[in-house]
Amino acid sequence: MDFSLPAHLQSLRSRVRDFMEQRIIPLETTIIEEDKTQTYDTLRNLQAAAKGAGLWTPHLPEEFGGLGLGIMGMCVLFREMGRSPVGARVFNCDAPDQGNMDLLLKTASPAIKERWLAPLCAGDITSGFCMTEPAPGAGADPSNLSTTATRDGDGWVLNGHKWYTTGGNAASFLIVMARTGEDPRSGASMFVIDRHAPGVEHMREIPVMAPPLLVHREAEFRFTDVRVGPDQILGQEGEGFMLAQKRLVPARLTHCMRWLGQADRALQMCREYVIERRSFGRRLAEHQLIQKMIADNAVAIHMGNLMTFHCAWMLEQGAGREARPYSSMAKNHVARLLCQVLDDAIQMHGGLGYSDDLPFATWYRGARAARIADGPDEVHTMVVARDFLKNRLNLLV
Ligand SMILES: Cc1cc2nc3c(=O)[nH]c(=O)nc-3n(C[C@H](O)[C@H](O)[C@H](O)COP(=O)(O)OP(=O)(O)OC[C@H]3O[C@@H](n4cnc5c(N)ncnc54)[C@H](O)[C@@H]3O)c2cc1C
Repeated sequence: MDFSLPAHLQSLRSRVRDFMEQRIIPLETTIIEEDKTQTYDTLRNLQAAAKGAGLWTPHLPEEFGGLGLGIMGMCVLFREMGRSPVGARVFNCDAPDQGNMDLLLKTASPAIKERWLAPLCAGDITSGFCMTEPAPGAGADPSNLSTTATRDGDGWVLNGHKWYTTGGNAASFLIVMARTGEDPRSGASMFVIDRHAPGVEHMREIPVMAPPLLVHREAEFRFTDVRVGPDQILGQEGEGFMLAQKRLVPARLTHCMRWLGQADRALQMCREYVIERRSFGRRLAEHQLIQKMIADNAVAIHMGNLMTFHCAWMLEQGAGREARPYSSMAKNHVARLLCQVLDDAIQMHGGLGYSDDLPFATWYRGARAARIADGPDEVHTMVVARDFLKNRLNLLV
């Protein structure tokens, strides 16, 4: 079994890593400060530099300005970008836009591609993905979907209530999941709507545990009689749940890789601290309890890398259905390890770790969402158990 990366990916990874270290990480605090006043000069300059360096939207096909990388290549680069919470945005690879680009590429009409996909790929606009609804609507269980799209002439009329649309308020368009029939498998469809269309009401930004950063602001929307034209549907009527899975499995892996990048950076920062800091007559790194935290986290990150790459490899082999439980395993493992690494990073740095002089406290607050967003731990555990009990989990390497 050959675990080495192809030469072109190794070279790309080095270029993204250097760009992160030399250009983005030194300016990350400036970008975060500018975001508080909604000024994005530093971010835009870096985005222009990423374009100039040929590292813009590497996940896209070449005709859309990308490098035509497969999911494996994306994972390699996204891990580097994840080292900073602003990294993915600089390369136009952040959620939810990256997953939305992927979905539009595969399913949108030519009119939607021209109107929304092209400017999204260029970084001129952002987008939102509206699946989740407040109770009793769709959440961990998407079959609770209550937003409706009712046939009207050659189009539809959309009514419903959504929340947790990341980046929804600033978005130019929204991908909305709505009920178009009663069948649990084929009763949902996805539509692309103008964020500012008549009937789209932005109710509020939901106050959440983590401070807002760039598009990571959670919108709540009400849709009242929003008119949807015939070319605004993605795929065919009734394909909503199937498309959601198609979008979510690769998007889940890209989340995992960004989270692994952040975990890796945090653990490297721990390494630097425990090698220098002395306590009880020796360096922290010489205390076995510290060594255990370092080793446990290094093992967890390594496992996360392997699980994610294995699943990406399955997707590249065309084993999309079989990959699903493996993507659930990876997502659960990486979301938990990210929380654990950051918790331990705070612990190993003591009072300094708890302070806002270091980023761990803020990162930890953001990381906690990883165990809920994109399906909570328990649902992914349920998927793994279900497939194991049906004897479908037999593709272990
Ligand atoms: C920061 C953040 C960003 C998000 N961004 C988006 C976005 O852009 N677009 C979007 O559509 N959604 C988004 N979401 C929503 C997210 O996908 C949902 O929160 C998630 O799917 C869970 O749904 P829910 O919140 O309705 O929880 P509920 O369905 O109310 O579930 C509550 C809890 O019940 C438990 N539970 C549920 N089912 C089971 C089960 N089968 N067995 C055992 N326990 C179970 C779990 O512990 C779960 O956390 C985001 C969420 C967060 C936190």
